[in-house]
Order: sequence, then C-alpha cells, then structure tokens
Amino acid sequence: METPVTWCPSGRPDRPESQVLGVRSGEDGKVVYLERPMPAAEVLGAVPEGIEPTRVLRFASHCVSACVHRRGNDCTLVERVGVLPAAGEARSVPRCHLRSRCQWWQQTGVSACHRCPAVATAVLQEDTLTTLVADPATTLEQLDEWIAQSPDGPSPGGAGSGGAG
Ligand code: SF4
Repeated sequence: METPVTWCPSGRPDRPESQVLGVRSGEDGKVVYLERPMPAAEVLGAVPEGIEPTRVLRFASHCVSACVHRRGNDCTLVERVGVLPAAGEARSVPRCHLRSRCQWWQQTGVSACHRCPAVATAVLQEDTLTTLVADPATTLEQLDEWIAQSPDGPSPGGAGSGGAG
C-alpha cells in the first residue's frame, strides 16, 4: 500500500502543489497562518520584484524523498527545530489548515506547532543558529552545545529551514 503524501510546512513556493501556509508579519516575522490554503501560484505575482517570496510568506509543499532533510520517512529538520525553545509564552498551538496533512505534526505533534511560527524558510547567513538548524549535517548534540555556550541563549524566533522540500 502506498504511504499517503505528507506536507512540509516550510516548503518551496515553486512546486505545482505549493500552497501559502501563512504570512510572516510584525517585527519578529512570526507566521500568521491563513485560514484556508491558497495556491502559491496565485500570490507569487503579487510579491514585489527583488523580494524573495520566502522572506514574507511561508509555503507548504509535498514532503519528498529527495529532500536533503529526509531520513527514511522522517524529517530531520523538525528534530533540529525541536531543540529550540518554544515560541510564545502561552505555548498555544496555532490554528493551522495544514495540520491533518503536516509531516511535522505527524512526526512530533505539538512540539513542532509550538516552534513552527518562528521558522523562517529563508536563512539569514549571518544568523549562526539559523544556519545550524538549516544544515542537514548538524547533529542535535552540536545544537545543544551551541545553545549551551551562547551567552544570550537562543532566540525563540528565527529558526530557519533553508528551503526544505
Ligand atoms: S507544525 Fe503545526 S502549526 Fe506548523 S504547519 Fe504543521 S500542524 Fe501547522
């Protein structure tokens, strides 16, 4: 029997199935989730020229076996994201249209949802933690070590995926 397709919540904007998951807003760039999925192709034309769509929007696309973050049927990116502190004080789970199909939810449940709004698909190269989280070669031990040695501790915002999917 075929395994049902799951969706990556930090996916690419340019797949035929790509959908807008949410909008990165405010000074911290946290994601505000759309109530309903919207085809990415319908909004990409509205993103001003010169702005990477993943800087302002989050996209969902199929979780594919060729992704650099895949290990078997698992996503290693959400494992690294899970090392980060949960965003927000209430630790509430956002309302999100992707949940029933989401790879991260299926793999780690609410742990992923607590961190998901802070994930940025576009990686800022000057942000060491973001770069480490986005790098498939980073182990959970290396992340723990970096966080422990960081004088200010990690920011709950800004975890990056580096364009999964
Ligand atoms: S991790 Fe949670 S909040 Fe993020 S897309 Fe998946 S179900 Fe939605």
